[in-house]
Amino acid sequence: MTSTLDAPLYTTAARHLVCRGCGAQFPLAPQHACFECFGPLEVGYDPAALRLVTRAQIEAGPANIWRYAGLLPVGQDPATRVSLNPGLTPLVRAAALGAELGFTAPLWVKDDSANPTHSFKDRVVSVALTAAKGFGFTRFACASTGNLANSVAAHSARAGVPSMVFIPADLEPGKILTTAVYDGDVVAIDGSYDDVNRLCSELTETDEFEHTAFVNVNVRPFYAEGSKTLGYEVAEQLGWRIPAQVVIPMASGELLTKVDKAFSELVEVGLVEAPAGGWKVFGAQSAGCNPIATALHAGTDTITPVKPTGIAKSLNIGDPAAGPYALDTVRRTGGWMDYADDDEIRAAIRQLARTTGVFAETAGGVTVAVLGKLVRSGRLDPAAETVVFNTGEGLKTLDAVADLVGPTYRVKPSLRAAREAGVLG
Ligand SMILES: *Cc1c(COP(=O)(O)O)cnc(C)c1O
Ligand SMILES: [Zn+2]
Repeated sequence: MTSTLDAPLYTTAARHLVCRGCGAQFPLAPQHACFECFGPLEVGYDPAALRLVTRAQIEAGPANIWRYAGLLPVGQDPATRVSLNPGLTPLVRAAALGAELGFTAPLWVKDDSANPTHSFKDRVVSVALTAAKGFGFTRFACASTGNLANSVAAHSARAGVPSMVFIPADLEPGKILTTAVYDGDVVAIDGSYDDVNRLCSELTETDEFEHTAFVNVNVRPFYAEGSKTLGYEVAEQLGWRIPAQVVIPMASGELLTKVDKAFSELVEVGLVEAPAGGWKVFGAQSAGCNPIATALHAGTDTITPVKPTGIAKSLNIGDPAAGPYALDTVRRTGGWMDYADDDEIRAAIRQLARTTGVFAETAGGVTVAVLGKLVRSGRLDPAAETVVFNTGEGLKTLDAVADLVGPTYRVKPSLRAAREAGVLG
């Protein structure tokens, strides 16, 4: 049921697409690259229209991302939404993890594995596909490292729209199965994500794909806006405050830049007071795919693409589109980036599970491992409130820890056997 308070404004504050490179403006349309300089486009808003959004209006909205519809480019009218209604995922106080890592200030885990298809991608897909439907596309598609394909397939099934998702053939079985079950087309490519992405860019230019929306290609500016809702939620769940530090996993780097954009918008439109010391944004990658962190460590603006390896497949983008903007964000806010190898990722998945009851996929292991490194290297202050983002679900990447965990005891079903095996202590 839709309450009368759901989406009180049926118009968007979005006004145009704006080039992140040269600032040129274009109409709101399924376009992702600047006609002037080929730079990436993002959604620009009318600040006065954004300022009409109030805390009371958001708090009275639905218990999902659409409570922030006034700050999004699409979806103000509930009838227009293509959505599994993700969002308002738990912000978990991670006291025991904080204690292990030496925190004296509160440490929180924003657990986005609680979304309908168990990753943060439901946020971006809901916004992208709502835009795509509005533009009249009749098929939904994506280039994916796994979670995006899962989400696009599920959203399309709910909406009754055909889908075709493109993935590297060597993804985790759990990611392929949870996508294929929705019965859209799944195209497994013998190549890396970067190969898949290149192919999808070429497909968007063909006549056969004229009516197909690739959520992270031709409607990418809208897709990217969905990530902002993670930042809005963290602030609202903290009682309309922005935390001093956030640690965010990076694939393309987009999520990291959009959480920062969300915080900035909340301050600009007057929904949140700017914290005294600002906020610092930290980025996490795996050692097998660390082109953004490597550029930061080298003090350069040039991101050298890599051939990804390692178990954190959802983050394996070797040529990250938003990498330069992630570098800017981290430098501007005084944060840092680091990376973790496969053994560190596995250990961090187990540490997070043991201390919080949250079972993360490999991307969450990356982020928690990097959190520990940042504390130990003195880059991140354990005396300042910190939010770490778990963006995906451990059940999709069981292989990562399959050889490391199992039954503590194995016994015959008798009291004597249990006693002999040590079950009674
Ligand atoms: C896609 C993804 C990310 C990061 O996405 P970008 O916006 O491309 O940096 C993080 N975690 C998980 C689990 C993902 O699937
Ligand atoms: Zn431009």
